Amino acid sequence: MEHLAPDVWKLNVDSNVYYLDIDPKTIIDLGPEEAKDIVKEELSKVVSLGDVERVILTHFHLDHIGNFDLFPNAKFYASPEEIAFFKENPMGAVLDKKLSERFKKIELHPLTHLEGFDLIKTPGHARGALCLLYKKEKILFSGDTLFRNGMGRLDLPSSEPQKMAASLEKLKKLDYKLLAPGHDY
Ligand SMILES: [Zn+2]
Repeated sequence: MEHLAPDVWKLNVDSNVYYLDIDPKTIIDLGPEEAKDIVKEELSKVVSLGDVERVILTHFHLDHIGNFDLFPNAKFYASPEEIAFFKENPMGAVLDKKLSERFKKIELHPLTHLEGFDLIKTPGHARGALCLLYKKEKILFSGDTLFRNGMGRLDLPSSEPQKMAASLEKLKKLDYKLLAPGHDY
């Protein structure tokens, strides 16, 4: 785990998993299923997985939701748009049939307000893509909308390519000092 700020940790497993030691204990994105053992082992060094109360998903692509089953006591949140798209087209939202079937069994809660954070809706890579600005540390969790050297693909079933430019513009205007993207490329 990489320590980004006093209460923020990062784990890179192709995609990035973030742990925020705030109240309630929060995870942002879950990594791919293939990394389950590493996610379990590494996260356990900083938090008991059963103590995680909140999981926020920037979007539902398989490499961001793969390990929801590691958090038995968490409530799962995403943008209302992402939840609606998943209900319409589970396979299109997740990009994996089996995982989308299992993911249907968890209760998803729409995230419209989050204390201490600004929520920024950034359709483009995914229709319901959500970015979060952690105001105390000025860290921007940008999912697959903005990477250090580019942006997420726009050719996926839930992509809305025509909206990406406006979403990136929104992010440019934010006052952040550290980018915490969904992938390190
Ligand atoms: Zn994605």
